[in-house]
Amino acid sequence: LRTLRPIHEMRAALQPHQKEGATIGFVPTMGALHEGHASLIRLARMKCDVIVVSIFVNPTQFGPNEDYDAYPRTLDEDSRKLIDENVDFLFMPDAKEIYPSGASTSISMANFATEFEGAIRPHHFDGVATVVAALFNIVSPTIAFFGQKDAQQVAVVKRMTRDLHFPLEIMVGPTIREADGLALSSRNRFLNGTERQEAVGLSKALFLMEKQALAGVGLEVARSAALELLTHCAPSAVLDYLEAVDSETFRKIGSFEAVETCTIVIAARFGKIRLLDNIVIRPGK
Ligand code: AMP
Repeated sequence: LRTLRPIHEMRAALQPHQKEGATIGFVPTMGALHEGHASLIRLARMKCDVIVVSIFVNPTQFGPNEDYDAYPRTLDEDSRKLIDENVDFLFMPDAKEIYPSGASTSISMANFATEFEGAIRPHHFDGVATVVAALFNIVSPTIAFFGQKDAQQVAVVKRMTRDLHFPLEIMVGPTIREADGLALSSRNRFLNGTERQEAVGLSKALFLMEKQALAGVGLEVARSAALELLTHCAPSAVLDYLEAVDSETFRKIGSFEAVETCTIVIAARFGKIRLLDNIVIRPGK
């Protein structure tokens, strides 16, 4: 594992590989690495010759009252995991270099990501799209890997990559879960005992909705049952949303019958911790 901070060093390190025609797999992260990140790295290993992982807690995707300062930073542990996963390069740029003094350019996803995370975190996806574009320009990957866990982020990154003609492929890895179903997240470590127990309600609600959809139950009835289950499993959770959406546009769908596939998205707060989850379902099958 070679750890690089300056942008010019990252570019220089990749140049000989690019000249040789090696394929570059890129896994952008904010660190506090867990098995979800590791699964993306393993997918990248299967598909590409050279693996670059970035750790960058991107200030522009956090709102003023969000957890930028409190976001977990666990570099020593992260480095050990990256060595175990046989990663070639760890890119850890400095925020001052990614956003040079007077930086004035930002990618606006405001007309695309208007709902769900886009509504609750107003400039979040502009920050995500801008930093991902900057990282793509630095690393020039052949394939960039993202987790299904952040389904709306996947939709945003795919749209940005397409709209700005980045010559690369976006590949999506499945959501990795704890044994009880809770999706792994860097923020799970902040849940207290009760919150952790209740947090499993998110995946339970999603799986119930999937089961009902596949059994032919209508969207609203399935949604009510899922909400009831969530209230039962997680009485203190504060729900932000639970909806069935088109997986590409993130527009709400009206009924399961109308679609072959869709994504069910859920977000709720457990104390100060906000958790997201989703599943892709195929009610038309
Ligand atoms: P983050 O460090 O949270 O920004 O995540 C970096 C990448 O890992 C993103 O593409 C996430 O979607 C992905 N990721 C996070 N959690 C999981 C998970 N439980 N399973 C699969 N991928 C994940």
